[in-house]
Parts: sequence; C-alpha cells; structure tokens
Amino acid sequence: MSNLPIRPDLAAKKPYGAPQLNVEVKLNTNENPFSHDEAFVSQVSAKLQEVLRNANRYPDPEALELRSRLAAYLTATTATNFDANQLWAANGSNEILQQLFQLFGGPGRSAIGFEPSYSMHPIISQVSHTEWVAIERAENFDIELPADLTALKNANLVMVCSPNNPTGTLSTLDLISKLHEITTGLVVVDEAYAEFSQAKSAVTLLESHPRLAVVRTMSKAFGFAGVRLGYLVGSNDLINCIRLVRLPYHLSSLTQATAVQALEQASELSKQVEFLIAERVRIAVELQKMGFTVADSSANFLLFKGSFNQGKLWSFLVDQGVLVRDVGISGWLRVTCGTAIENDKFLAKLKIFVEQK
Ligand SMILES: *Cc1c(COP(=O)(O)O)cnc(C)c1O
Repeated sequence: MSNLPIRPDLAAKKPYGAPQLNVEVKLNTNENPFSHDEAFVSQVSAKLQEVLRNANRYPDPEALELRSRLAAYLTATTATNFDANQLWAANGSNEILQQLFQLFGGPGRSAIGFEPSYSMHPIISQVSHTEWVAIERAENFDIELPADLTALKNANLVMVCSPNNPTGTLSTLDLISKLHEITTGLVVVDEAYAEFSQAKSAVTLLESHPRLAVVRTMSKAFGFAGVRLGYLVGSNDLINCIRLVRLPYHLSSLTQATAVQALEQASELSKQVEFLIAERVRIAVELQKMGFTVADSSANFLLFKGSFNQGKLWSFLVDQGVLVRDVGISGWLRVTCGTAIENDKFLAKLKIFVEQK
C-alpha cells in the first residue's frame, strides 16, 4: 500500500500484467509469433524518416489517413461498406475501452461482463468508478442470459468479448443483437481476435444497431502488439462523443504512419493467420490425444484442462523453457499458437509431463 494520498479504492491494487520470463518458447500473451520481414521494415523505416523530419509539428489529431485505411480494410474483409467517419483509432484497444468507460461509465453507473473473460474489462470499469457486474458463462463458456434481465437492461455498458479471451468462445450475432435489444446501454463487442474466426464480424450489425461499438486491434493478427494501435467501429455519433474524452494529439505521427504501412500489407498477413488457425486445429487434436479437455476456440489460442493442478503443470513447462498462461481458472491453462517449432516443443514437453504422472 502506498503512503501517497491516492484514492483508497486503488491503494491495495496490483498493476495488470502477464508474468514475463526469459524463456525460449513464449506462448503466453497471444501475440503473432512471426517477426516482420526486411522488405517491410525498410519500407516503414523510409516512411518514418519523413515523418521524423516533421516531428516538430503535432500529428493529425483526427488520424484521417489511418482511419480511411482502416475503413478500407474493413470494407474489404467484411463485405460491408465503411468510411472514416465510422472509425476511431487510439493507442491499443485498451485505450479505446478506457475512453468508452470515461464516456458511458462513472459513479452511479454500471457495466456487465460474461466471465471468465478479458480481465482488463473489470479493471478499467473499477478505475473509472463504474460498478462491475459479472455474469458467469455456462460450463462450455457460452453466454447464457440470466432469468432476471433487470441488471442487463439497466447497464450502461454491456461488454462481450468474441472470440472470448481466455476461452476462445465465439458469440453469435443473434446473441449480440438480443443483448442490444434488452439493454438501454452501449453494447461493446471486443473483437481483438476477429481475424482468427470464420464467423461474420459484429461490424455487420452496426447499421441496424445504433448503440453497438466494435473494438478491434492490430496487436494480434497483424503482429503489431509493439506498435499500440487499436480501433473502434461505430456510429459517427459515437465517435463525436469520444472526441470529448480523448487527449489532444493522442496518437503519435509515428504510430499513425506505421499503421498505415502495415495496412498496405494486410493480404500478406492473412497467410500467417491461416497458418495459425491450422496450428490451432493441430494442437487441439494433439491435446485431446493426450487426454486433455480443450475449449472450442475461434482465436489464436487454446484453453485446455487436465486432471492435475494447473499451477504445477505451468511450473513444469517453465522449467522446460515453455511459458503458457495461468489465467486463474482452476484446472485450465491457456496456450497461444506459435510457430510450428514452438508448438512442437510445447506438445513434446507436455507429453513428458503426462507420461511422468
Ligand atoms: C489482446 C487483447 C486486446 C488488445 O489490447 P491492445 O491494447 O490493442 O494491445 C484487447 N482485448 C482483448 C480481449 C485482448 O485479448
């Protein structure tokens, strides 16, 4: 606890973050395992030199070129038309989530989530003084609506992560539509892993669902976790509201330029996404062969459960040079799909553990 005069509700908290260890195989934070090729790096570097020359000036506060490119990317990948007025960009989707809580949450207001899910949602909720209401998911991690819909109806924010982190579970568009019908609040669909799913994106619902916001990121499928670029798709009305809480010039000219370049090679990246989906299927089969239960996943990771203590298995894997994530669900561990070599190593070490038992 700090001796500084900070808010009492924050004094006892711990900062969010995955334990990072220096091991050979890192399969714990759902990153894309492929680094960027030299041609791309040279292309971005050339662009950044030009941007740096003009770095005495503030960046475009509206990030218009980037938002147009994001709109074009969505139009191409979802067969629905979007323009820059329906897009918003910030430093990672977490900044966007925070902006939404600043706008729609606050004292006397509430947000609902379906757990287990992304643990940053309740953290951002609490930091913004928004009451957090958790509804437990079914045993197979599907969202089940409670018998009493009062809390849902009155919530100011309804958070749906689909595909869901850490379970990989997909929510149907019918369900999202239903939630929008029940609640008077904003329905936020966190689609950080959308590219790894074959299902239609919730962005296709926007036209008929005015209180819907879809939040996405370049951190996962695009392999840009280090760049910090998240984006929101929603009504122009919503985006006008976000301008009330965003900080001046929140998105640096370097970030904007790098993301624009990355969007140009989006079709190249889709090959990596296809590979990672194939690896997800392969790993799931191997895990099942070893006797593990595997949750259905539409993302670039798998949640799996054995008949032993997950903490013990986690430590064993770390000792063998493989880092996975203990997300705090009894019996379960989450593994990110890496390169074929990394995945083979993970499976081989797991096999040693299973056979030792
Ligand atoms: C990884 C992840 C994000 C991404 O956050 P960024 O700030 O864009 O890196 C958002 N939501 C979920 C559910 C995630 O797993």
